[in-house]
Amino acid sequence: MASEEEKTIFDVEAASTLVNELKSAYTAGKSRSYEWRISQVQCILKMVEHHEQDILDAVFSDLSKPAFEVSFFEVAMLKNTCTMVIKKLKHWMMPEKVKTSMTSFPSSAEIVPEPLGVVLVISPWNYPFLLSLDPVVGAIAAGNAVVLKPSEIAPATSALLAKLIREYMDNSLIRVVEGAVAETSALLEQKWDKICYTGNGRVGRIVMAAAAKHLTPVLLELGGKSPVVVDSGINLQVATRRIIAGKWACNNGQTCVAADYIITTKDYAPKLLDSLKHELEKFYGKNPLESKDLSRIVNANHFARLTKLLDEDKVSGKIVHGGERDKPNLKIAPTILLDVPRDSTIMNEEIFGPLLPIITVEKVEDSVDIINSGTKPLAAYLFTNNKKLKEHFVMAVSAGGMVVNDTVIHLAVDNLPFGGVQESGMGAYHGKFSFDAFSHKKAVLYRGFGGDVPVRYPPYTKGKLRLMKALISGSILGAIFALIGWSKD
Ligand code: NAD
Repeated sequence: MASEEEKTIFDVEAASTLVNELKSAYTAGKSRSYEWRISQVQCILKMVEHHEQDILDAVFSDLSKPAFEVSFFEVAMLKNTCTMVIKKLKHWMMPEKVKTSMTSFPSSAEIVPEPLGVVLVISPWNYPFLLSLDPVVGAIAAGNAVVLKPSEIAPATSALLAKLIREYMDNSLIRVVEGAVAETSALLEQKWDKICYTGNGRVGRIVMAAAAKHLTPVLLELGGKSPVVVDSGINLQVATRRIIAGKWACNNGQTCVAADYIITTKDYAPKLLDSLKHELEKFYGKNPLESKDLSRIVNANHFARLTKLLDEDKVSGKIVHGGERDKPNLKIAPTILLDVPRDSTIMNEEIFGPLLPIITVEKVEDSVDIINSGTKPLAAYLFTNNKKLKEHFVMAVSAGGMVVNDTVIHLAVDNLPFGGVQESGMGAYHGKFSFDAFSHKKAVLYRGFGGDVPVRYPPYTKGKLRLMKALISGSILGAIFALIGWSKD
């Protein structure tokens, strides 16, 4: 976190000075070169390799997140992003030749990716390292200058990021601003060329409103209630493990794509519940509050928010597994609730924690209407062996992303865009999509001075109109007839 002195200094004026500095550095053109982009991505890779233990320690201090989860979800995934950029950037930067139309004949055309300028990345606390640097790598790969504002709710990681970026990166074009609402608000008053915000929808609306004042485009990575539909006739043990992996083994449920609730049939629910209880005990022991493999709840506010969900009258008596809490250490055990009322708070807010309600239906197909009656989720998961159900689910359910027969791991597939839809987000990144998210695709048409048929110049005639129509529709025959007719016009 920024010191008290620095925090008071970073006001709108300081933000404006910072943006102006980066704008002039950007305008000088250094960040556009392939060499600069690669060198900066290599710096990030080096920084991560030199400081892996510091990263594990910082995220542990912020969340008690198990080193295994940080190593895999944050460090390894970031390294993978950097390595892919280093391997593929030359190709991504190349203009893409495209065909032209008869109206512009003779000509050639290409799509030239260009950087946007100076971009702002605002990141959250739950994967405080990865979700800060992954978009930054995309912005650098696309040739932009970047300001990163990490989350004040993960102060150790925020401080580490500020220190390492100061030491390893080209600070004429890449900076970190630490702080909370006041600092972020000062940053949001500025005119950016893109804002990438990851966090909740309430702040997403604040970001979008601020961006609208300058017509700045936004990439909003938000959250939502990601359902898991469980059909019968599946390999239940594998499904159960994968549900647990996508809930409690992901930062104890504090993950944007974590399983938020399960829908299964009345008949299958008891089997599924037994399996979940059995596997949970195998993973986390009889006293999960003592397990070192579960993150704590990030802070007292979120602890209070989650316990309030459990203590609501409407869900009284619905806890069928877990429910234990340890307030001083901010721990909540993996908790399952069965048949909670659909109008309870837990079924109407993103849970973002270790609580997992199961709701039951007569037929598994009923799950589609239930999901579609809410806002569009960031992810939707289905466990089934039924081909028809799978096809129907993929077609009928709208979600940012989807996994059939697993949870969460779609975000590790670089060739898939990662992002939400409607209230779960706007735009996408990961892999080449990150490069695209921070680039403008400039359309360039090249012409010479020959073949200047005066068809589009006044005075307008019926013949010229017939010829233009034929050219636009791409009809060579039509164009020939129109030319013949034109001479008679
Ligand atoms: P957070 O509280 O850390 O906030 C995110 C950022 O917003 C921080 O940098 C914070 O300083 C800033 N911020 C907070 N209040 C602000 C305000 N009033 N004005 C301007 N900036 C402000 O994180 P969070 O929102 O609690 O994160 C959890 C949410 O993020 C969940 O909804 C989760 O689903 C979502 N999320 C989405 C993704 C994704 O990739 N789609 C990833 C992680 C988290």
